[in-house]
Amino acid sequence: MSPTVVSRGTVTIDVERCKGCELCIPACPPGVLHMSSEVNRTGYRYPRLSPGCTGCQACHAVCPDYVFEVYKYDRPQLTEVSPGPVPAVGGAE
Ligand code: SF4
Ligand code: SF4
Repeated sequence: MSPTVVSRGTVTIDVERCKGCELCIPACPPGVLHMSSEVNRTGYRYPRLSPGCTGCQACHAVCPDYVFEVYKYDRPQLTEVSPGPVPAVGGAE
């Protein structure tokens, strides 16, 4: 059976604005942001979102380049994640 992760919000990520500073990665309380292996047009890696966002806005607050827009869901969304060597997904509540 696949584990289920609860998301209470989501973010948009304007990857072309990102300067790759990585401040958002440790700032995310449930740890659902990780850096891409690809780079944007200016050559910087950027964050990607895994399921489990709480909509807390910490990423928006810490990012110097206004990369994130944060949205809260009216109702929590459930996502089944595959077990295995995929990056660990935090935020299970
Ligand atoms: S804090 Fe902003 S600029 Fe820095 S890596 Fe995260 S999204 Fe990119
Ligand atoms: S809104 Fe909060 S939980 Fe969602 S990605 Fe940003 S810091 Fe993480």
